[in-house]
Amino acid sequence: MGRHLSEQNRHLNNKKEQAVRTGKETSSAGLSYMERRMAGRTGREAAVAAIVPAMIAAVLLAAFMFVPLDGWMRCVAFLIPFVIAGFDVFMESVERIAARNYFDKAPVTLIAAIAAFSVGYYPEADLLLILFGVNRLVEGIVSNLCGRDVSELPSIKPETANVETAEGVLNVTPDCVNVGDIVVVPAGERIPLDGIIVEGMTTVDTASISGQSRPWAVTEGYRVYSGCRNLTSEIRVKVTKGFEQSTASRIVRLSHKAPDYKSNQEERTERFVSVYTPVMLAAAFLLAVIVPLFNGGWTEYIRRSAVLLIMACPAYASLAVSLAYIKAIGAAAGCGMFVKGSDCIESMAQSETVIFDKTGTITEGRYIVTDVFPVNMTDHELLTAAASAEMFSRHPIARALRESAGAIDTQNIRISQAEELPGRGVSALVGDARVYVGNTALLEEHGITCEIPSRSGAAIHVAVDGRYCGHILVSDRVRSGAFDALESMRVQGVKKMVLLTGDVLSVARPLASKLNFDMLRAEQKPEDKLSAVTYLMSNKGIRSTVAFVGDGNTDGALMKRVDVGIAIGALGSDAAFISADVLMMDRDIKKLPRLFGLSRMTYRIALENMAVGICVSVGISVLGAVGIMPVLGTVICGFALNTAVLLNAIRIK
Ligand code: ADP
Ligand code: MG
Repeated sequence: MGRHLSEQNRHLNNKKEQAVRTGKETSSAGLSYMERRMAGRTGREAAVAAIVPAMIAAVLLAAFMFVPLDGWMRCVAFLIPFVIAGFDVFMESVERIAARNYFDKAPVTLIAAIAAFSVGYYPEADLLLILFGVNRLVEGIVSNLCGRDVSELPSIKPETANVETAEGVLNVTPDCVNVGDIVVVPAGERIPLDGIIVEGMTTVDTASISGQSRPWAVTEGYRVYSGCRNLTSEIRVKVTKGFEQSTASRIVRLSHKAPDYKSNQEERTERFVSVYTPVMLAAAFLLAVIVPLFNGGWTEYIRRSAVLLIMACPAYASLAVSLAYIKAIGAAAGCGMFVKGSDCIESMAQSETVIFDKTGTITEGRYIVTDVFPVNMTDHELLTAAASAEMFSRHPIARALRESAGAIDTQNIRISQAEELPGRGVSALVGDARVYVGNTALLEEHGITCEIPSRSGAAIHVAVDGRYCGHILVSDRVRSGAFDALESMRVQGVKKMVLLTGDVLSVARPLASKLNFDMLRAEQKPEDKLSAVTYLMSNKGIRSTVAFVGDGNTDGALMKRVDVGIAIGALGSDAAFISADVLMMDRDIKKLPRLFGLSRMTYRIALENMAVGICVSVGISVLGAVGIMPVLGTVICGFALNTAVLLNAIRIK
């Protein structure tokens, strides 16, 4: 999915967005009034500081309700809780108005309270300001709960690294370490930067980035990733990526930017609020000032306009929609799936077509050689020729061929011009001989006729200097849990499952029928895969999206074509960070239903918040305008609505 915002736009949106999400607009001094008031306090102290004035005002209000007061005495008495509860709202409103943010919830609530108070609805006006404070508290708690998983992510970023220098081992910040440096990672510490182990043997815990706390045994030559914890013994790691390019930094950056890419639901709600509030303010003005000019009855019309003003700012509904997405992004991150934007969650929620790559996605991608059929040479010669040409390929088939051939005498065999031909195979000069290793399509492109394999299975054909040398049968296993994962996704609402593979039909067909795929496209070259994806994209239903699940390394182009591209096994893959919208760090296909389920739940809850927020606000406003809705009822309904939508967002998990 094309990330559609320009850098500058996004930056602007980012600031606005933060303001909306936290309910705090930054003033010219950088901090809002409430932020300055809460500065230096712990979460609990801040909550207490925010709620204390409201509580004092509530006690006074309750007391005055039982004191028989009349006339101006009553007015003065109720003015006390009004001022106590309203002070923060007033200060905030002044700041918002100075920042030309006239339609913010603080000034709108303050005007509503003043309007109600001015026509003798003293307890209602007090209660409105008190409940505004309570809503603030709920907002703070819910925002913390929803953003907790994302805001805790920076803890996976290591703060120091022990780098070896000429003067010995120095403890420095990881951004001072260069590629090629050696860092020492004692047991118990986080690995500071991505690299390769050059000395030592240990187990690492990848839980913070893959979501699975299964220790992973590693030794010299293994890649390790920043953010993982070294569990058992000290290792020396040669750094292969700078701090900013290392896994932990990338994950943190990606997750923090994610809420900037807003879903349509968020945009729609914000658009609604941005029109609705000014319209309501204008209507309230008409009711309070213009109508009584002709009709009289000032008190009644000001009362009605107070109802409109109380419901004029459904900002909490808008906030609750955004919070739902933040919660989902955090919940996915907790399982080792990093989502690049709220829009990706929305796309997954709406996906009716899911396209799967076969090798490495549905299957384990761990091929083994099952049979060798050489022509005029020995098995070993055929395997050696194939493995030599495959020396630099990262394809799972290449790995199987290399493992099967055993050690290759690279001192005496010169391999050059090695070229990966996606969806076909490889071509390389082994010594002076041109070797092709791959499928029938590759060899036929070079005018070489292939033998028809005597047994079913994936056949890798080999040709040396234009001469056909035989074929090697390889096989791969379906991932455990693939069937259940696909069935669960179907239950969640995915209507069309498509298997897309470059492998031969004889291998792909049994697999597709075993897993109940609705559509199979086999023997697809990369360009065929692109056109298949384009076809599915152009034939999707309105409001439905297409998701692609594949390998971030080889399927980048396909990921960009669809609405949401999910890369599995993204750990250590630079390409996945660039091309995919969702990065599943490990290759646990069983997590897919969790991801899709989470997205659908988020979409549903956001929709509920949006619909309830809009319908209740509009409904009460209409009743208020015609004089049916009492002020007290409106204050209570407004509070209940705000609290309900906020609490609804935390149901996502
Ligand atoms: P999939 O679409 O299932 O992920 P690929 O597009 O990676 O599969 O590969 C499709 C087919 O191309 C393989 O089944 C194999 O026949 C051939 N192929 C691709 N890369 C290689 C390689 N490095 N060595 C040999 N054959 C290859
Ligand atoms: Mg593939």
